[in-house]
Formats: sequence, structure tokens, C-alpha cells
Amino acid sequence: MSFDLVLFGGTGDLAWRKLMPALFQAFRHGSLPQDGRIVGVARDDLSDDQYRELIQSRFSAVEGAKRPSPEEFKKFASMLHYLRMDLSKPDDYAKLADLLKQRDASTVVMYVATAPALFTQVVEQIAAAGLNGPKTRIVLEKPLGHDLASNRAINAAVGKVLEEKQVFRIDHYLGKPSVQNLFAMRFGNALFEPIWRREHIANIQITIAEDLGVEKRGAFYDQTGALRDMVQNHALQLLCAIGMEPPINSHADAIRDEKLKVLRALKPWTPESLSLHAIRGQYTAGTAYGERVQGYRDEPGVDPDSRTETFVALRTEIANWRWAGVPFYIRTGKRLASRDARIEVNFRPTPHAIYRAPTGNVNKLVINLQPKDGLELHMLAQAQDNRQRTNGNQSAAAQLAPVQLDLDFDKRFGAERVGAYERLLLDVIDGRLNLFVRSDEQEEAWRWVEPLIDSWESDGGPRPYAAGTWGPSASSAMIARDGFAWGEEQ
Ligand code: NAP
Repeated sequence: MSFDLVLFGGTGDLAWRKLMPALFQAFRHGSLPQDGRIVGVARDDLSDDQYRELIQSRFSAVEGAKRPSPEEFKKFASMLHYLRMDLSKPDDYAKLADLLKQRDASTVVMYVATAPALFTQVVEQIAAAGLNGPKTRIVLEKPLGHDLASNRAINAAVGKVLEEKQVFRIDHYLGKPSVQNLFAMRFGNALFEPIWRREHIANIQITIAEDLGVEKRGAFYDQTGALRDMVQNHALQLLCAIGMEPPINSHADAIRDEKLKVLRALKPWTPESLSLHAIRGQYTAGTAYGERVQGYRDEPGVDPDSRTETFVALRTEIANWRWAGVPFYIRTGKRLASRDARIEVNFRPTPHAIYRAPTGNVNKLVINLQPKDGLELHMLAQAQDNRQRTNGNQSAAAQLAPVQLDLDFDKRFGAERVGAYERLLLDVIDGRLNLFVRSDEQEEAWRWVEPLIDSWESDGGPRPYAAGTWGPSASSAMIARDGFAWGEEQ
């Protein structure tokens, strides 16, 4: 099999930080088909060799284990090429057509890693240049639009010139080994299925917490915010993976049909739930890693009067027979107390207590996504057998203590597993759509977040929270009203 992978935005941040290291790892693992070309596209005037040097120099900033030795890079670099193009100029697409004709590879992947404003134009010009034939696959990065209307406009433009099976919308959370393990745990084992429902589950918490601020991406983030950057895509995809019914088979559309049903079943927002169940915040100066850090509005590229949210906490429900009445809490933000992405499935307490047991959520399944990748099953066990004498009788006053069963996938399968972007890039080259988002799923997710976007335009603005904390106190108050607490507060 031969492939050409055209990387629009080949000199950009995403290309050198994520995509090139992922392609190199696939090359190192021997999973990248040998007969391939990777063509970086941007406006700089570079030769192939200059592009290779640029990419090699950028690898010095890549995590140690993933950095190639000079010999390894030399072998990988023979696949790398560069094409100077201005994507806003229709004439420049003829150069791309000429380059692709030289080899006539069996698969052509076009990865659009440029500013979202160029997406529609790029897709239309690819078609105008006759490059949208059946062997073409197009990869679209997030964010795909900034609201429902703009998302629909992009999807409509794409749908005019490409079939849905040619379109790979990236949500890199779906490529994470832990998320694939979540599917494997739910649909490869019968163990949890009987209790995976409202009768046994009290609440579900999805947390995607970052301890970093906006770093160098302040200008981008200020136009985006946590709702669009994390909730509309990653958090809702995780919610689908937890809440969906078992698909009838493992084909992409069977999986995506079930995810779509979850999104359609999410409780619509009402004026009451918008005020009680949607909290947004913005970090102020605080402490991270023991050091004083500045507030969001002082970050480079951020408007000093910005109303952009850097934190969101939501409560929702999936209105169907399996989940009716079970709260799903979503929480994400920057400059929080730790870097921690996890899903907690909190089971209901025992119906009748015979032990003196700790209160709170004792039985829970934690799916760790970041920084470690694994499962923890929390339960109570007998810690010690204190025989006490009461009125002359000996009674067992058992002390129960929390214990946990830890499945550490890094330890079991090796820490150097296939990373998210590596998995997804290989899937695109192989034409596997399972881990990509269909247009109707994406539109449904936008439809659900749209009332939040609208109501936040005219409210009092995000609530402040100090950097290095778990967000505004309203987030804890929201969950406490249901009688629950966030994982770290239990
Ligand atoms: P970036 O660093 O600004 O890079 C943009 C790339 O596009 C550069 O190579 C730039 O090169 C090229 N480009 C811009 N205008 C062009 C034009 N008219 N013709 C040809 N090339 C053009 O952006 P990024 O951070 O890599 O992000 C790219 C996309 O990925 C965005 O949609 C972003 O939202 C998404 N994304 C990024 C990240 C991340 O971590 N960076 C994560 C998730 C999603 P020249 O300006 O030299 O032409």
C-alpha cells in the first residue's frame, strides 16, 4: 500500500508538537507503511532539506523517549517533503495536483492543520483541483466551527465535495488508550453491564483538569474558551463512551449511531438549569508548582477585560431508561489544582448498613485517562478485627477501610504504547473511521452547548477562582445540592 499524507500547516505548532512525533513513532514501531510520502505545506519558502532540518530541530523540544537519534531521523526524513502553497490562493492547488500526480499513491490523506477559518476554502479548492476522488481522505482538526451554524456551514461545504466516509473529524481523546480501554471494559466484558444503570449508579463525574495556564496560546484560547475547547468535543465524547448502549457490532457507524442517541437524549437546558447547573470561571493569580502565577487576564494575547471562561462545571442527565435521574457532572479547566483527567462512576451505597463504615462514595470505578492510564475499583475491606467487650459480651466491631484494586495498563502493556495521534493517523491511512466523529454527532453536540454560549453572552461573566485550586466554589455547591461531592472532596 502506498500513501501520500499532505499536512496543511506543516510548520505549525500542532504539526511539530504532535503530528510529526506521532508519525515518527509509527515509523519507529514499523506500523507506518514504508511506501509513503509526508508533504508539509505552508507559505514559507523552504526546500525539502530545509524542511527536514526544521522538523529535526523541533524534535529537540519533544519528550525524551520519543526523540529520534540522528540515524533514526535520517531514515524517517527520507519520507518528508515540503510544498510551498498559500492555501487562500486557488492557483496554488495546481502545484499540489502536480506533486500528487508524480506518484499516484493508493491513498491520499489531506490533514488540515491550519486556522479553522481556512477549512471551507481548503476543502472547496481541493475539489476544484480535482483532488477529491475516492482515494482521498480528509482530516479536520478541532475546533470545527465556533457554534452550531458555523459547524453546519463547514460540514455542508465538506459534504458537497466528499462522501462522509472520506471525512475524518479528529477528537484526539478518542485515540487515547484509556478511552479505547473504556470501550473494551464495557463491551468486551459482561462484568459491569448488569450494574451499569440507574438502579446501581448514583452519579458519574467526568473531570478534565489541567494545571497549566494558556501558555503561548492566549490569543487562540481567548476566542475559544473551555466550553468550545473541551466540553463540546472531548468531555461529551467521554460522556457518550460511558453512557451509550452496546453497539450491534464494532463498525464505525454502529458505534457512532449509539453515541448520537446519547447526545440526543441529553436533557435540554432550561432557564432554571442554566442558572443552577452551568458554572463557569476564570482563573486569577495564584500558586502553581509552589510558585506565584499570573491571572488569565494578564496572560499574553488575552484581552485584559476578557469574559472568556477557563473553567466549566455542568450537571446534566441522559433522559432514557438506563440513565433517567442519574446526574452526569462534567468539569474542566485550566490552572486547576492538578493535571488529572478521569471518569468516576459512583455506585449507590448499601441498602442497609451493618458495619460502622466510612460515609461518602465508597464504591466507585475510576477510569484514569491522564496522567496515568488505568482503572481503579474502590471498595471497603475489613481493616482490623477489634474485639470489644460490650456488657460482658464479645462483639466484633469491624473496622472497614477503603481499599482499591488497581489495573495499571502502562505496567501491564508497557509504557510506550501507541499514543493518541499515532493511533488516529494510522487509522486514517488504513481508512478506519471508528475513532472519528461523524457530522451529525458533532452537530448534536453543538446544538446542546449552544444555549450555554447564548446565555453566557449576556450574564455577569465568569466567576473568579485562584490559580491552583479546583475552580469557583459554586462548582462544589452545585454538586453538593444533590448530596454528592467531587472525587477529591470525598
Ligand atoms: P499554528 O501554529 O498557527 O500553525 C498554522 C499553520 O498553518 C502554519 O504552518 C502556517 O504556516 C500555516 N498556514 C497559515 N495560513 C496559511 C495559508 N494561507 N497557506 C498555507 N499555510 C498556512 O496553528 P496550530 O496551533 O498548529 O493549529 C492548527 C490547527 O490545529 C488549528 O485548527 C487548531 O485549532 C488545531 N489544533 C491545534 C492544537 C495545538 O496543540 N496546537 C491542538 C488541537 C487542535 P505559515 O503561516 O508559515 O504559512
